[in-house]
Amino acid sequence: MKTEAVVLRSIRYAEADRILHLYTPHRGRVSAIAKGVRRARSRFGGRLEPFFRLHIELHEGRGELLTVTGAQTIDAYARLRGDARALDAAARACDAVGRLFETSEPHPAVFNLLCRQLGLLNDRAGADGRAGADGREIADVRAGALAFRLKLLLAAGLAPQFGACATCGEHEHLVGFSGAAGGVVCGACEAGSFPLAQEAHSFMVDALGRALTEVPQAGATALAQVERAISATLEHHAHLRLMPAAGRTG
Ligand SMILES: [Zn+2]
Repeated sequence: MKTEAVVLRSIRYAEADRILHLYTPHRGRVSAIAKGVRRARSRFGGRLEPFFRLHIELHEGRGELLTVTGAQTIDAYARLRGDARALDAAARACDAVGRLFETSEPHPAVFNLLCRQLGLLNDRAGADGRAGADGREIADVRAGALAFRLKLLLAAGLAPQFGACATCGEHEHLVGFSGAAGGVVCGACEAGSFPLAQEAHSFMVDALGRALTEVPQAGATALAQVERAISATLEHHAHLRLMPAAGRTG
């Protein structure tokens, strides 16, 4: 088959091969072996590396593992590779997609979302030291990663309820978040929840309503609450624990 794909992971295998985890628009996540790719004169060159967006040809044998028979670059996101923070963010984005959407179920919107996120990280790569204080940039990287994860939750059908108490339907006094209840909860239903500030609540609603290019801003405390809400939702409804949205340095 021929498909577009993003390389999520590339694992060394045997003497000169690689096993690739690919994310495709219409076949979900697939695994493929690229034979001889680590030889200096491989016809694939350096194209089968993480984060490459490719036109790829895959041969389907009897097993689950496909074989790469051709690959052309659509976008290498080359600037990412010179910026440790952008590279780290790209790896976390790919890891989240690969683990939340690990089956062959098609989610073309997730594929597009991942490509857009990689494009944004690529555009912003190398901006260190030019834009203000370092703390602000770290917060921006984290906010962007959390907005991306919220959109993944939505695509997975796991978007938390934000408009009213997820337990009783109350519209006022929404003071907590509960993964078990599936969203924000009111003061009367807060048992088992953790506090959610208005700023964190607004961030999640805004992030879900806006394009990835327009990430809302929020302070560190609110972003920590947002990350906790996402984690609680994933753990409760998908039994999944992702790595932190952003590394210590961004
Ligand atoms: Zn309630």
